[in-house]
Formats: sequence, structure tokens, C-alpha cells
Amino acid sequence: MRERIGKELDRLKQEGLYITPPVLEAPQEAVTRVAGREVINLASNNYLGLANHPHLKRRAREYLERWGAGSGAVRTIAGTFTYHEEFERMLAGFKGTESALVLQSGFTANQGVLGALLQPGDLVFSDELNHASIIDGLRLTKASRHVYRHADVDHLRELLATQDSDGLKLIVTDGVFSMDGDVAPLDQIVPLAMEYGAVVYVDDAHGSGVLGELGRGTVHHFGFHENPNVIQVATLSKAWAVVGGYAAGAAELRELLINRARPYLFSTSHPPAVVGALVGALELIDQEPERIDKLWENTRYFKEGLAGLGFDTMGSQTPITPVLFGEAAAAFEASRMLLERGVFAVGIGFPTVPRGKARIRNIVTAAHTRDQLDKVIETYAEVGRKLKLI
Ligand code: PMP
Repeated sequence: MRERIGKELDRLKQEGLYITPPVLEAPQEAVTRVAGREVINLASNNYLGLANHPHLKRRAREYLERWGAGSGAVRTIAGTFTYHEEFERMLAGFKGTESALVLQSGFTANQGVLGALLQPGDLVFSDELNHASIIDGLRLTKASRHVYRHADVDHLRELLATQDSDGLKLIVTDGVFSMDGDVAPLDQIVPLAMEYGAVVYVDDAHGSGVLGELGRGTVHHFGFHENPNVIQVATLSKAWAVVGGYAAGAAELRELLINRARPYLFSTSHPPAVVGALVGALELIDQEPERIDKLWENTRYFKEGLAGLGFDTMGSQTPITPVLFGEAAAAFEASRMLLERGVFAVGIGFPTVPRGKARIRNIVTAAHTRDQLDKVIETYAEVGRKLKLI
């Protein structure tokens, strides 16, 4: 076994794909500690700065004390508590949908929902840059898959026009693309879907709590949340800062998932403290919308700063701000130099992004101050000049 695993690890090292995760030595905040150094943190998905917020911690403690440490069973046996169902009603209210159902993570939500929805003979049209959990979720089904070029509505139309089936036609897209930070053109995709009798499935992991009125997400931003042929899936681990995933949409969808989504049926439900913290997050997102305004103000400021220096931020429209380096070695070297200078931003290369499109992925949060962003922009300028990129 050692020999077999050793060979695989060597292969990963040779191909430059071997990963050593950075370890955080302080809580998930705008400033944290990595490798013994205090760093400005642009590496998290903690969009609204809630991960270490006292209100979420207070709610988590309340739920822990009232309900215990664990839930003790899967949802369908003895693991559904009043707190799960109350939170789901709150979530549906927030999303403006008929219903919502929570799963253990965004990753399992995609696996569970796609697996429950799709049957042999169904057709799936999937954006080429969709998240790994969508790709894996689709692999679990017997539907036939057709991949369209990233955000290319003409290519999608061509595929819809040439592929036909009596089964379900499902268009699957990220709402906000996780590596490029661009927004799916739902204003074109949803009308196109209606024209061809297709259903639209949006993974809004990076849009929920970020985009749309009061952070209700990308689908809300485009005004399609009441359309029963639009399914929203998202996570509770990014802007919501805890863990979990959910599907929001028509009431029948929730019923189907209770009966067919395998992570719901076969994996233990969230423990009380997780749901407590999520209730706390929902309360803050609902009652203190100024956090979202701050997130966007910081996003604009940071993007302008980088563009002013001549960096290519790849047309990103959201707080996910990639800086293109091209070769993976350059992106990793720049990330190392940034870290040495107190800026934590991670280099991303193939296979997470296409070859030749290696980048550093920066995520601005509502918790960053102007001074911190200025320091990051100055550091980028220094590193960019040293590497002769700008
Ligand atoms: N979908 C997208 C688009 C994501 O970026 C992620 C996060 N990595 C997920 C799904 C999975 O979410 P989670 O981390 O909650 O499992």
C-alpha cells in the first residue's frame, strides 16, 4: 500500500499538482495568522465577516445547551428536529421561495439534488466551468450530459435545438463562477430555457448573501425566484460562514428531495450548534444589510486599485477577484512573495483552472478596512514589479 500511494504522490509532485494546505493559527478574520505571521486574509469565502462573529457564537452556544452536541440520526429516521424545520422555513422566507431543504454541505447538496432529479433519458446542459460538485453530481446520474462553452448562450441554444428527449431538460450553471468571479447570464439563460421547455438549476454558492436585494442571491438579482422552473442550490459555508447546503424552490422539490436525495437519506443531519450559528447568520444578514453594501464598496475599491496598477482581473464582477499570472509557477511564486509581506492570497493552477490561466484568487470581504486594502494593493504593486508583470 505504501508503495502504491507513494507512486501516486510522486506523480502528483512531478506534475506540480501536490498540495500542502496552509494552516491558519488564528480565527477566520480579515487579519489572521499563517506560518507564524500576521496576515491580511484574502483567501477565505467569509464574505460578510461572520465566521467568528459573537452573535453566531452566542446562538451556537444557545442551541448546544438546549439541544445537545449531536443530532444522532439521519433526517428521515430520528434526525429531524424542530430547529431544522424552523431554519428551513426561515431560509425559504429569505430566498422568497415556496420551500427550502438543508443538506450537510454545498457539495452534498449538488450530489443529492442532481441525483434526485435526474433519470435515465433526461438531458443535462452544463457550463464548462461549473463546480466540481456539480460535475460529480452529474456523474452519479444516468442523464446524458452536454457541456456548453462558458457562459456562451449561443452555444447553449445550439445544443438545446439539436438535442431532444421526452425527459427533463436541465440547464445547470453556477450563479457566480467560483474561480473567475463572473455572473451567469441568467437574464438570457432563463428565457431560453422557457422557450425550450427546460428547467434551470443554479448553484449560487458564491451569490447567496452577496448578490441581489439583501443578498438573496443571483436568481433573485435577475427576478426569477418565483419561477418554479428555476431551482436554486447554495451553500451555508461562505457568506453564511458556517457549513451546509440547501435547495430552494417549489414545494414539490422539497418533497422529492426528502424522498430521494441520498445525503439527506443516508448521512446524519446537522448538529444543533451548526443550526444555531446559521440562525444567527440569517438574523444578521436580514437585519444588518449594510454589511453587503460594505462588501461591494470594498470590492469596487480593490478592483480599481489592481486595475490601476495594470493587473488583469479577468473581467470579474463580484468580490472574487482573480489576478491572472498565466503560468502556475508564477502564480505560486507571487503568492509566496505576498505571504512573506503579510498578504494571504492563494495561487490556483491546473486542474482547478485551465492550463495557462493560473491566477491568484483574492476574495474581498465586508470586514476588510480601507487601510488593509491599501496595504494589499501596495504589496501587489511591489510583487508585480519584482516579477516584471506590471
Ligand atoms: N458550489 C460551488 C460553486 C462552490 O464554490 C463550492 C465551494 N467550494 C461548493 C459548491 C461546495 O460548497 P461547500 O463548501 O459548502 O461544500
